[in-house]
Amino acid sequence: MANEPSRLTDNLLHVYNYCFTETVPYAFFKPNKYRDIPVRLTGKDYHCKACGEVLHVTYQPRPLTYYSKGKLAEQRRLYEEVGQPFPVMGEIEEGKRFTNVAVGYCPKCAETAVLQSEDPGQKVCNVARQLHREDELVVAKAREAMEKSLTDWLNAQQTEDFQKYDFSTFDALRDLICAVMLDYPQGAEDVLADYKKRSHELAFSCREALKRLPDTWQAYVGYSVNIYESMHDKMYHEYTVAFPAMGTPGTEYFIRRTVEKSRIEMFLDQPRVQTVEDLMTEVGFHGEWIDLISQRVRELQR
Ligand SMILES: [Zn+2]
Repeated sequence: MANEPSRLTDNLLHVYNYCFTETVPYAFFKPNKYRDIPVRLTGKDYHCKACGEVLHVTYQPRPLTYYSKGKLAEQRRLYEEVGQPFPVMGEIEEGKRFTNVAVGYCPKCAETAVLQSEDPGQKVCNVARQLHREDELVVAKAREAMEKSLTDWLNAQQTEDFQKYDFSTFDALRDLICAVMLDYPQGAEDVLADYKKRSHELAFSCREALKRLPDTWQAYVGYSVNIYESMHDKMYHEYTVAFPAMGTPGTEYFIRRTVEKSRIEMFLDQPRVQTVEDLMTEVGFHGEWIDLISQRVRELQR
């Protein structure tokens, strides 16, 4: 349980984003007036196809955002789809405020329209999303179980028991906490057994369904409305990227996009947590655990 970033979980998150959310790589970029269009972009409207509600996200203020021609043409199509007049080129050049449009499903409507879909391509994405959730949740659940074994142990200790231990340095405290967690691993083991079963089932059903799908297809993919977006369809750079305002809630919105079989296979093939040691490493060490010891010592002094 070294105090280092969790490698398996970070890697899984990166690969999942590579499959389903990030579409363009970072590149060095200098706006070219023949190729790129400066726009005074101020926000984005998400239109739900089912209930018609519009979710507005305000972007962090910035001077100009550079669009590629393809990305602006895509916006023109989306404006048409939602029945809004698209600003004429002159207005955009004069710096008229511009709002991006996206069409998809709000989280509520996605529950039925997307997540219960019987379409084979959509089902694969839904199962991969569930697997991603399991990958994220296992660490939080393990941390909870490890903290419980520590507090249970602490509650059983009396003042005289504590005299046996060295509390003088951070390292000594950390070693004691790790030793207790390793001595009482049952909670983390249960979390792990549950995760292994669930993740195997999900990966298996995803692999089976993938066999019957083409190399690429279109499906709705959920992504958080508070992440950045590039207005260039080939790459992202400071000039092309817009960030939602601070405090924008991370609502998951479902947008139709192209997904690639090979990327999903890559996500399924990634190493996942196998042993309780792996899992404890993923959780890492948390300074708050030292506070739990101090709390118990104070309790006993009362
Ligand atoms: Zn809706």
